[in-house]
Amino acid sequence: MTDRYAVAGNPVEHSRSPAIHQQFAQQTGQAVDYGRLLCPLDGFKAALQAFVDSGARGCNITVPFKFEAFEMATRRTPRAELAQAANTLRFDPPAEGGGWLADNTDGVGLVRDITVNAGVALSGQRVLLLGAGGASAGALGPLIEARPFEIVLANRSFDKAQSLVNRHADWAAEHGVRLTARALDNAGQAYDVFINGTAASLSGGGVPVGPGVLRPGTLALDMMYGPAAQPFLQWARDHHAVARDGLGMLVEQAAESFALWRGIRPDTAPVLAALRAQVPL
Ligand code: NDP
Repeated sequence: MTDRYAVAGNPVEHSRSPAIHQQFAQQTGQAVDYGRLLCPLDGFKAALQAFVDSGARGCNITVPFKFEAFEMATRRTPRAELAQAANTLRFDPPAEGGGWLADNTDGVGLVRDITVNAGVALSGQRVLLLGAGGASAGALGPLIEARPFEIVLANRSFDKAQSLVNRHADWAAEHGVRLTARALDNAGQAYDVFINGTAASLSGGGVPVGPGVLRPGTLALDMMYGPAAQPFLQWARDHHAVARDGLGMLVEQAAESFALWRGIRPDTAPVLAALRAQVPL
């Protein structure tokens, strides 16, 4: 029997997740059907419930429902608890504990893409993370675990950056990482790694900070990918940074979700290579 999954969000048409999970399923011999679930902005819960009632086994959650998905789950992994946002739900049958399990695989996916795929060490580095939405909430805990020297979290709404930082203060102290919140217009200078975790590229809003955050050779990563990421990537290159999009993160977080659902971790390298041939950097 084929088990059904989907990426749930609004918008979802741009998502490459169905193609990625199809390749994972083929590679691992798993009977998986993975589609897209466009949810009304005011009807996420009803859309998800209908999907579960139709026999679905899980879903990925994308913009802007990661916080809502976390709230709706009956059980949560520790990394989802820290993020208070979920990008992965697993719908367990009553015989296996029942209810919805929330996880967040965005952060481990991001860190793996930076350190393994891009080959950039985070340990001891200065990192700027922009955004305090679901994606950045998921990224912050695993970024701290990679033990950079410092992480500055800047967001358009400063209060959200501050509350995300407050929630991670103990985690940062435990890992010896200096963690501070800043406003966008005071984001700091010359970072080693700059991660744009805002939805600015998705909405065509441009790069929300000035080029002073870069130095020659900075890894400048936008979580967005495809045509919408191109202005950010060009901006990074124009200022002598190393430009990277969110495609590798996407594949890595998908592999973690797949492992949670199916108990087997696919090999991400061939899937990322195949996707990269279609989505230029
Ligand atoms: P959310 O809607 O939860 O959060 C959006 C964030 O972006 C908020 O911090 C918001 O600031 C900020 N923002 C939005 N527009 C602007 C702008 N014009 N200027 C400055 N800041 C802005 O979205 P997510 O966190 O879920 O997703 C963020 C991005 O990351 C999306 O583009 C998404 O596609 C991408 N993503 C990619 C993944 C991957 O695997 N590659 C995984 C997850 C996400 P404020 O708080 O002030 O509203």
